[in-house]
Amino acid sequence: MKRVYNFSAGPAILPEEVLKQAADEMLDYQNTGMSVMEMSHRSKTFDNIIKTAEKDLRELLNIPDNYKVLFLQGGAHLQFSMVPINLLKNGTADYIVTGQWAKKAYIEAQKYGKINKIASSEDKCFSYIPDCSNLDISPDADYVYICENNTIYGTKFHTLPNTKGKDLVSDMSSCFLSEPVDVKKYGLIFAGVQKNVGPAGVQIVIIREDLIREDLPLWCPEMLKYKIHADNNSLYNTPPAYGIYICSLVFKWLKKLGGLEKMKEINEKKAKILYDFLDSSKLFKGTVEKSSRSIMNVPFITGNDELDKKFIEEAKEYDLIQLKGHRTVGGMRASIYNAMPQEGVIKLVNFMEKFEKENLK
Ligand SMILES: *Cc1c(COP(=O)(O)O)cnc(C)c1O
Repeated sequence: MKRVYNFSAGPAILPEEVLKQAADEMLDYQNTGMSVMEMSHRSKTFDNIIKTAEKDLRELLNIPDNYKVLFLQGGAHLQFSMVPINLLKNGTADYIVTGQWAKKAYIEAQKYGKINKIASSEDKCFSYIPDCSNLDISPDADYVYICENNTIYGTKFHTLPNTKGKDLVSDMSSCFLSEPVDVKKYGLIFAGVQKNVGPAGVQIVIIREDLIREDLPLWCPEMLKYKIHADNNSLYNTPPAYGIYICSLVFKWLKKLGGLEKMKEINEKKAKILYDFLDSSKLFKGTVEKSSRSIMNVPFITGNDELDKKFIEEAKEYDLIQLKGHRTVGGMRASIYNAMPQEGVIKLVNFMEKFEKENLK
């Protein structure tokens, strides 16, 4: 069996321990004689899986009782629509555009109301997080929207925007469960799990109860109402059952590791190894303003497209895989999510050192 160091931004690396357990339980899940894949989502066994998953997630993130946890489908993209459809009451919301995902959400929301772009970092290719301490928040805004970790550009909000009392909505897809979060500071958090938590197909939404509404427009499909999913404990229709099961194993893995404080410590250590090297390298350099750096996605370049290409190709010979930057940015990007072991980062840096020696003229 061969396992590579997979630096993909998503779908991404999962803990080996979790995959092994899933393999062990594939044919016969806890003496049921079947796989979780084959099981009724109304069965007692699956009910136990989804309830335990929610309980463990609540424990990991310390989610207050007045927040609902939903396991949905449709990816982060569907939340770009569900958020405005469900949260717009006055018909106005403020968006902070710090990357492609925030921009896509901002454009999608315009179908449903008056959407204001109150800050952006597009002027410098999204390489920083703008100062959001005193923005022009619309008095009647229903919410303020951010993408907390910008997967493509490698930036992260290290300070949340001052929303002046408005509810904060955060796309946490690529930093979800990478560190502790004060859920109370948000009205709604959503995350596609294929970045840091599980297989593609599951979307986790954490929403404060008072934001769950019944009085939605008549045209709104049932499947797009948070209320329907909340009332049915994410079992309104067939949920992505196997994906939820894998998430539940990852939650257990995180708990066993010591929870999110510990995970953060490990992640910061890994990121420091890579950033310290980038800051001292004569060939490679990071593309992001230092104060905005993400510890999950680390983009870097040599400044020479041919050399970048050569680097990505040669890295594969060392089982360092998926290091190509997003097609809109070029260069390289190492996604070093929770499941990436420190050895993987060290191996990458060692290869970068070797490559620098061989190619720096
Ligand atoms: C990957 C990603 C998305 C898009 O996710 P889909 O599941 O493909 O819809 C949105 N936001 C962020 C921050 C992402 O990293």
